[in-house]
Amino acid sequence: MLDNEEKKEILIPAAEIAAKIKELGDKISEDYAGKELLLVCVLKGAVVFLSDLMRALKIPVKVDFIAVSSYGAATVSSGVVRILKDLEQSIEGRHVLIVEDIIDTGLTLKYLHKNLWERKPRSLRVVTLLDKPERRKVSFTPDYCGFQIPDKFVVGYGLDFNEYYRSLPEICALKKP
Ligand code: 5GP
Repeated sequence: MLDNEEKKEILIPAAEIAAKIKELGDKISEDYAGKELLLVCVLKGAVVFLSDLMRALKIPVKVDFIAVSSYGAATVSSGVVRILKDLEQSIEGRHVLIVEDIIDTGLTLKYLHKNLWERKPRSLRVVTLLDKPERRKVSFTPDYCGFQIPDKFVVGYGLDFNEYYRSLPEICALKKP
């Protein structure tokens, strides 16, 4: 059983996440005032963030979902990421905001950004709840970021370890045994 209290420490409490999401919601609403926005949620980790963020926005939004494979050892250097579930709609000519849970090496978003940009959206930006800049393998800077965190493996608020912990309301660092 993984759910062992001693093995994790709270890094960002739920109240801090909520305050940050309000801040992000205000900023994004201001930046996209008068426009219609399509939120593209990267499954599965970003679903909790998406559900809170979309309710913090004061502009009309639509949502769609995309799922990508994590690159295996062989694909790390090439940065090739496979799309497991694609969007259900065309993004051509639309304002698109990718909603991601965490940026680590940057490979996933670098690939996803390029892939979606080739579909000719009117604009394409990225919001991530968490960013681990120390871990970058390719340069990638999100347009909006909730928290920069140190190089720790985190779970909770949608993020998993072997599919566990996604339902935790706070962001926790997993302690090494
Ligand atoms: P990147 O391509 O930037 O290296 O990684 C992006 C993906 O790796 C994230 O969407 C997430 O699924 C996973 N990931 C990276 N760091 C962490 C972490 O600390 N905790 C969890 N649960 N997943 C992570």
